[in-house]
Amino acid sequence: MRFKIMRRIAHAVGFTGFLCFLLIVLTEIGTGRNDPTTIRVAIIKGKKVVRITATGEFEIWDEVNERKIINSSPGKVWRIVSAKSEIQIEGVGKCGDKLIIRSLTPGEAILDVNGNRYRGEIVVTRDRKGRLIVINELDIEEYLYGVVSREISPNWPLEAAKAQAVAARTFALYQKFKFRQLFDLDDTVNFQIYGGFNYEHPRINQAIQETRGQVLVYNGELAAAYFHANCGGATEDSENIWSVSFPYLRGQPCGFCENSSHSRWVKKFSKKTLQNILYQQGYPIGTILSIRPVNFSPTGRVKTLEIFHSQGKKIMPAAKFQNLVGSQRLRSLWFAVENTDSHFIFKGKGWGHGVGMCQEGSRKMAELGFNYQSILNYYYLGTSIGDLQKIFIK
Ligand SMILES: [Zn+2]
Repeated sequence: MRFKIMRRIAHAVGFTGFLCFLLIVLTEIGTGRNDPTTIRVAIIKGKKVVRITATGEFEIWDEVNERKIINSSPGKVWRIVSAKSEIQIEGVGKCGDKLIIRSLTPGEAILDVNGNRYRGEIVVTRDRKGRLIVINELDIEEYLYGVVSREISPNWPLEAAKAQAVAARTFALYQKFKFRQLFDLDDTVNFQIYGGFNYEHPRINQAIQETRGQVLVYNGELAAAYFHANCGGATEDSENIWSVSFPYLRGQPCGFCENSSHSRWVKKFSKKTLQNILYQQGYPIGTILSIRPVNFSPTGRVKTLEIFHSQGKKIMPAAKFQNLVGSQRLRSLWFAVENTDSHFIFKGKGWGHGVGMCQEGSRKMAELGFNYQSILNYYYLGTSIGDLQKIFIK
């Protein structure tokens, strides 16, 4: 059947066109780019040197020249260095610009990068500035073992862990199919936190296994399953945070997270400190006199700020201000500002962007007896749970 389709394509586009088509198909299969069961996670960016080893025998391949460079014994450490114009392995010499490190007994012998252990394979390549990028390419389910255990505590109820597993699986694949060049996502809060093998926990692994292959679907497509630590009392319409509207990312009242210690925060800055922070972020501004929120979302999150300073007045999107000041300092956009003679005191609600699932709310819902389907249904309006294989292999 497949050969019949190939022959038809060859007939339609001619021999050269067919070769191009074949090359694209093989490249896509080779990189796993269209495969919903694998994911590529950047675990190190911008380094000059990385140390690689494994708990069992492993190999290092030069992918560019298709040759095996090293057959290594367990525990032997190899230093991979970004030299002027190429990647080098100390004691071996120059290599191609893409190395692949494989365990000879996957699942038993675990690879180790700079002291952190990872399932799957490791890819070492370089960015445009010649610095190393290390990518962990692995099965999506095994990837989730290292994500859900970092995103929530293993002590949380199993149904909350299952809701997190489905949301994290969906979010990862949603990112993957944005077709980034070198990797699908990184291991930070910019996407979702991934700690690799060291952080795995049997209860979390159970939640992932019991929801294996399940993803959130809206109109037959993967949902953008964003989540955050604590919404502070109500989640937010997506367009109020990122200017993109998703029909299932609607603001919902959430009384479930209000008793958590993360539902309120206070951050005090001296006027000089805040001015210095903005200056260090490349945003020079005169002596700050006052800060005033002027525009709000219906739930009360700040959309725009007015900053009066010695050289005039600046209107700034609150999201930009949070970006400059840092999201660890200003945990959410739901805040009031108190201006004193010497300080600005920010008093806020929640932790994170407030869009999609509230993790601490989902914990409480699970404690109250809601199952993971009900939790997901509450925070992702109108979505359903689908099977990964059925969505991608139609
Ligand atoms: Zn909440």
